Amino acid sequence: MTSPPHLETLVQRQKAFFASGQTRPLNFRVQMLRRLQEAIAREEEAIMAALAEDFGKPPFETYATEIAILQSEIKFMLRHLPQWTKPRRVKSSFLNFPSSDAIYAEPYGVSLVIGAWNYPFQLTLSPMLGALAAGCCAILKPSELTSATSGLTARLIQEHFPPEYLTVVQGGPQVSQALLELPFDKIFFTGSVPVGKIVAQAAAKQLIPVTLELGGKSPCLIDETANLSVAAKRIVWGKFLNAGQTCVAPDYLLVQESVAAPLLEKLTQTITQFYGPLPAQSPDFARIINDRHFQRLSSLLDHANVYTGGQTDAASRYIAPTLLSNITWEHPIMQEEIFGPLLPVLTYPSLPQAIQQINARPKPLALYFFSESKKAKELVLHQTSCGGMCLNDTISHLANPHLPFGGVGTSGQGNYHGKASFDAFSHQKSVLMKPAHPDLPLRYPPYGKKLNWIKKAFKWL
Ligand code: NAD
Repeated sequence: MTSPPHLETLVQRQKAFFASGQTRPLNFRVQMLRRLQEAIAREEEAIMAALAEDFGKPPFETYATEIAILQSEIKFMLRHLPQWTKPRRVKSSFLNFPSSDAIYAEPYGVSLVIGAWNYPFQLTLSPMLGALAAGCCAILKPSELTSATSGLTARLIQEHFPPEYLTVVQGGPQVSQALLELPFDKIFFTGSVPVGKIVAQAAAKQLIPVTLELGGKSPCLIDETANLSVAAKRIVWGKFLNAGQTCVAPDYLLVQESVAAPLLEKLTQTITQFYGPLPAQSPDFARIINDRHFQRLSSLLDHANVYTGGQTDAASRYIAPTLLSNITWEHPIMQEEIFGPLLPVLTYPSLPQAIQQINARPKPLALYFFSESKKAKELVLHQTSCGGMCLNDTISHLANPHLPFGGVGTSGQGNYHGKASFDAFSHQKSVLMKPAHPDLPLRYPPYGKKLNWIKKAFKWL
């Protein structure tokens, strides 16, 4: 595929701007972050309206998960950027004596950020913060499925930043693929595993460094020692926020057999407590993004045992917060990431068996474990692999900028948030600085008896 000339021109203009060195000074980066901070603050109402238009996202959820999370990342970066941008002195090697050595964080250059639709504002701008902090230029390609939010993002960036520094290109997979042909210096992708593979292949063709923030099925385990009332609240919150359309939402529950029945009851009570007896009328529950996903999710309900919920309305793309019981690993709902308000509940007889089931599947983006047993928590922590985890909570680990966020295996490569975002857009340039004198002759030919000396020198190390 050849990229349309206007996209090539955009990249070339950004390359020229980057080469001018204007994005590198700390002052510039700080100014740009502050400019964005103010712009987002001014547009709060518009952002909430856009998300409500796209998929009925409640204003509280938009504020907490799109606006506040970005603003706290910006504050964190402003506080720490002076430190991050300083060269980091490291010990020099005896063999290179005399020298002084340091690591310089060097901006990669012109980056491409491709975003997903489920947190459309935050997932496009949050990686961009890393690009800004690192001193890069960026082209953003938000999702085509959330046209109101993507349009607003484009307007906001256009109004506050020159296109040779930051710009938004709107469109779907074709536009995305045309962009992937261009000579970016860094690609940051958030989305599904299949598209992640396409992006990784495109990046590999040009050997462009790439971060992949992908998805998958994130398990949530509950053992018999867990505080079930608290677990029910934290699970219902993490699962049904954004109507279950969250990359780190608990995809399924894996419950110790002895507590499955009381947990199901508490989960049902909590759903009613949070969303009322008729969640369709709750102002706090979002809708499914489009008809395709509505049909996909509705068909998963067809042969499932509905414990709670299960109601749907195609016209408003509503699917009730739903619990599915007596689900087996072979059920269709257990074959792919659910990405919607359906929560299958499976049971396990013993923790090692549950761990074995998890480890037999692709490494998840997140893993949650509710337990009061220290030993059991240690077991799950050390015997499973996942992008990130919460013990006795769901999804909250992504809101701490001190914790790098990302997947492992098929759930992603690389990470971001806080310093990790800065690092994702920086090359760690190792620099050795040597004075002209003294110029010790040990390493230069002719070697003569120097072999004995160098052997002795290595013994001292
Ligand atoms: P998606 O992969 O369908 O789309 C993501 C982006 O890729 C969009 O901008 C889209 O236009 C583009 N795209 C789609 N098809 C493409 C193609 N063939 N070639 C090139 N680009 C293409 O994902 P989505 O439906 O927007 O998001 C849902 C998925 O993203 C879920 O799997 C979810 O778990 C994952 N996700 C992961 C994170 C994370 O941080 N790890 C966050 C949010 C969502």
